[in-house]
Amino acid sequence: MSRLELKDTDYYYCRWISPKKTGPEYLSSSGTVIIVKGEHVCGRVFYSSGKTKVCIVGGGPAGFYTAQHLIKACQDAEVDIYERLPVPFGLVRFGVAPDHPEVKNVINTFTQTAKQSGCSFYGNVNVGKDVSIQELQQAYHAVVLSYGAEGNRTMGVPGEDLAGVYSAKDFVGWYNGLPNCQQLRPDLSCETAVILGQGNVALDIARILLSPVDVLKKTDITQPALEALTKSQIRRVLIVGRRGPAQIACTIKVLRQKRKFVRGKSDIENVFQP
Ligand SMILES: Cc1cc2nc3c(=O)[nH]c(=O)nc-3n(C[C@H](O)[C@H](O)[C@H](O)COP(=O)(O)OP(=O)(O)OC[C@H]3O[C@@H](n4cnc5c(N)ncnc54)[C@H](O)[C@@H]3O)c2cc1C
Repeated sequence: MSRLELKDTDYYYCRWISPKKTGPEYLSSSGTVIIVKGEHVCGRVFYSSGKTKVCIVGGGPAGFYTAQHLIKACQDAEVDIYERLPVPFGLVRFGVAPDHPEVKNVINTFTQTAKQSGCSFYGNVNVGKDVSIQELQQAYHAVVLSYGAEGNRTMGVPGEDLAGVYSAKDFVGWYNGLPNCQQLRPDLSCETAVILGQGNVALDIARILLSPVDVLKKTDITQPALEALTKSQIRRVLIVGRRGPAQIACTIKVLRQKRKFVRGKSDIENVFQP
């Protein structure tokens, strides 16, 4: 376990990413101190505890399941989860539809994992920017990368970047409260919406667009999204699929729910290219 040497130490101060205060400085359970200058993380000091230390990058389901199994398999392991966002649970929080709370129940299991004495969660740490993989490798016996798949895929067709065309990821992030999607403010003033692609996410979005507002009110959908959907003029959603109904990439449960959308004269149609 190496210790990073700091230069010009008077210039830095220690800010603690863990609530465990152990003296004049704040130390995390695994003895990690982040050194910040203003708002910028400038360096770190790592103190060896002699235990097996594992660092997990990304606080989504993959990260938490990894932590859960590591702690179960290795009782004295110290597991630190670094997450770019201030809050944990990745796409369970920001992807799964708000009217599917039972899917989000897994958060309870993750919370139990986070409460284990060998596990620490550090939000607001952007690995690659605030701390490098090389630094983590120096400080931990193992570094697990579980940072999800965040990029948008483009189709490479003309018009993709026109106003009123949104990526599903951004649209879902908008109604789920993902901080960097709150500026999206989608235009819902027309009667028909078209969704390209026929999977669970397409049906999630169709359901959110067409569900009665009274149903959405009972979910944890964000207030701005609820207000926008209250004013929405969308009554018809077309889901366009490249292949036929047999290739729909939906779970049976989500497909069955498609039949329940009723909002005034609302309807969902699947459009398949033969
Ligand atoms: C719209 C939508 C709906 C879905 N609905 C369902 C559903 O109903 N049921 C179901 O089972 N699955 C659903 N899924 C799939 C499920 O959410 C994903 O399979 C699962 O979240 C993937 O887990 P993960 O940990 O790999 O990635 P993520 O959940 O994406 O977590 C990755 C985490 O890593 C963090 N991260 C990224 N880069 C860095 C970095 N540089 N430094 C630190 N942290 C970083 C991210 O902020 C994120 O929190 C849905 C997905 C989407 C997009």
